[in-house]
Amino acid sequence: MKLFLRTAMSALMAAVLLCCGCADTGAGMARQPEGGPGAEDGDGARKTNAGQGAGGPWQYADTAMGTVVQQTIYAADQETARDFSAQAMELLWGLEREKISWRLETSEVYRANASAGSEEGFLLSADLSALLESCTLLWERSEGAFDVTLGAVTRLWDIDKWAAESSQEGFEPPGGELLNQALGTCGSQKLRLVEEGSADVRSAESSASRESRLRLFMPEGMRLDLGAVGKGLAMERISALLAERPDVDGAVISLGGSILTYGGKPDGTPWRVGIVNPFDTAESIGILTLEGSWCVSTSGDYERYVEVDGVRYHHILDPKTGAPAVSDVRGVTILMKDGLLGDGLSTACFILGPEKGMALAARYGAEALFVMADGRIEMSDGMKDVFRK
Ligand code: AMP
Ligand code: MG
Repeated sequence: MKLFLRTAMSALMAAVLLCCGCADTGAGMARQPEGGPGAEDGDGARKTNAGQGAGGPWQYADTAMGTVVQQTIYAADQETARDFSAQAMELLWGLEREKISWRLETSEVYRANASAGSEEGFLLSADLSALLESCTLLWERSEGAFDVTLGAVTRLWDIDKWAAESSQEGFEPPGGELLNQALGTCGSQKLRLVEEGSADVRSAESSASRESRLRLFMPEGMRLDLGAVGKGLAMERISALLAERPDVDGAVISLGGSILTYGGKPDGTPWRVGIVNPFDTAESIGILTLEGSWCVSTSGDYERYVEVDGVRYHHILDPKTGAPAVSDVRGVTILMKDGLLGDGLSTACFILGPEKGMALAARYGAEALFVMADGRIEMSDGMKDVFRK
């Protein structure tokens, strides 16, 4: 466990380069403030806080949702920053425990999965109702490339155990028969969402406005896997928490492939968010310069994978085959205000490729950047405005 977390931590710190006013960081790793009392605790989670003089940021790192959480907080004093940071961690742990983990019996997704095949279905909370509605709309719009019903297949691949750059001794890709069996339980077209006391609902209204609850019916064996939107949901929740904290002036929160920027810095300079180079994850391919609050979500074949005999099996699966998507894309970054959709879109766009992916992102008003297998970078116009090599 310790080893896994350590590997995951270093890999995921490399996955997205955070530059909060330190564009020269260079090496592609988010850096602890110079002179800060950085230390590793027993879990390999670096818990650091350090001031950098008046108005400087406070930095914290920990783990949640199977990934590294890095927080850079601008607040008047350390007490405020530390208090917010602890609140954000509690929120993330609670979200995993109570909502989205498919492993923990305490979570809503676990209970929803356990209801698969039952006649009575499962009455979702209002927030998971909204989330599943957004996910089914994205499934439709992505022509099935994005599909949160792939749980039986993702478990077969044991994706949760993979960390970037790890070679898993004894790993064998699942055989065709097992894969086909699991694939048979998947497909968002097979799930039904029914408004209590009304007809089926499928993307009928904006999820943001949904307050009512839906009853979910899944066929026997179907399993939800919210891995593609979990971090985006977390970003949304942290944004809401920040909105309740006027004592926090600015923040950059990084959670695996998702980054949230909020507010501003005392010196008025913009946020600088680096995008990892898929060909050398210790380097960045460029920097996004951003003002105010944004969500930046990245999906790539370098984030979680195993390599066996020179073949890379990565964690973004093609719902048509149940196998890692064969794509000429190495990484996709989505920039938008909505963290949940940004996270879902980066996964969908990885599978769809730049042509369809750009069109899908545009439909959501999102900016997109694709790093192609031949090294080219393709970007939407809005992304070009904020991206510099
Ligand atoms: P992300 O890193 O946000 O691109 O999400 C990848 C995670 O989402 C994987 O680890 C799986 O748990 C899940 N996943 C894999 N393929 C898909 C897919 N085609 N649609 C939705 N979720 C997926
Ligand atoms: Mg995603």
